[in-house]
Amino acid sequence: MRPCVCVINTGGTLTMVNSERGYVPSAGFLEKVMDRLPLAWRESIPDIRYSEWTPLLDSSNIEPRHWQTLAQQIADQHDEVTGFVILHGTDTLAYSASALSFLLPGLSRPVILTGAMQPLDVRNSDAPNHWYIALQAACSQLPEVAIAFDNRLMRGCRSTKLNAAEVTAFASPRYPDLGRAQTTPQGPQWQFAQANWLESRALQHLSAPLLPGLVRVVWLVPGLPDVALRALPDQGCRVLILVIFGGGNAPSANPTFMATLTFLRKAGVHILTVSQCPFGQIEDSHYEAGRCLQDLGIQHGRGITLEAAYTKALVGASQAWDNSDLDSFLLRNQIGEQG
Ligand code: ASP
Repeated sequence: MRPCVCVINTGGTLTMVNSERGYVPSAGFLEKVMDRLPLAWRESIPDIRYSEWTPLLDSSNIEPRHWQTLAQQIADQHDEVTGFVILHGTDTLAYSASALSFLLPGLSRPVILTGAMQPLDVRNSDAPNHWYIALQAACSQLPEVAIAFDNRLMRGCRSTKLNAAEVTAFASPRYPDLGRAQTTPQGPQWQFAQANWLESRALQHLSAPLLPGLVRVVWLVPGLPDVALRALPDQGCRVLILVIFGGGNAPSANPTFMATLTFLRKAGVHILTVSQCPFGQIEDSHYEAGRCLQDLGIQHGRGITLEAAYTKALVGASQAWDNSDLDSFLLRNQIGEQG
């Protein structure tokens, strides 16, 4: 049977045109991109079930409710198509990829997000190549959410945008690629690294509304005042993502800061740490400045990205789970986001 890929265009640079106020999303991507593909490449294009969001969005305007819409669109068609391609702006693409991973554990179809650094109409745009490699990846057996970009296939919940200007925009600093594409006259061809793929399981769809107020992210800087943090329990915050220094350290010699963390833990706020460094990971610290966090029972996200930590916490905190269920959800590796 011919493969059929469901393509959902949410917006982003690849679908943008120039305007008086800079690039803005514009409709009609599908017709335009097909015209720009070399003839030899067009022969291996699968059947496409295409839809465009109205309005199309710059991904800076994507919110958790949009992740839920996407997850619903995917869940509804999961058993009807070979795979999915989500066209998306690059700015928050890694957040959306992570969110979809947690909202839809147990996928048995590839869900491939892609975008471009240059609009389709710009000469030598990366859009046609990304469109093509994403479609090819969506015809594979990959049972997870991934990002196809710059001839790399990366686990969605391990990826992050590291470069704001180059086509090498995305990296998966702590997990090997799921595939690499090689250029051939017939178009780029994937060489998949199946040993790095997740196992396919039964699809679940965590469809409870996502409530962003339940999670806060705080990036530590030297001298961070702690006053605002004490208000978190009253504001309904269930999880604090603390983006800490290096391999897992925080200002242990600041008694106010430490007292605030103790206060938050007693008030039932889960604290999950993420390293400020994209490479290396949080280990059981060799430093007193790290041990103090362990003593408070704070969970280390180890090699988790900020995007994955935030979306995992948001999906977990938005379910009607008690604190101990939320605790074990946060602690355990769910969909290959850590470990
Ligand atoms: N601002 C754009 C967006 O995220 C950037 C891009 O697509 O590369 O939608």
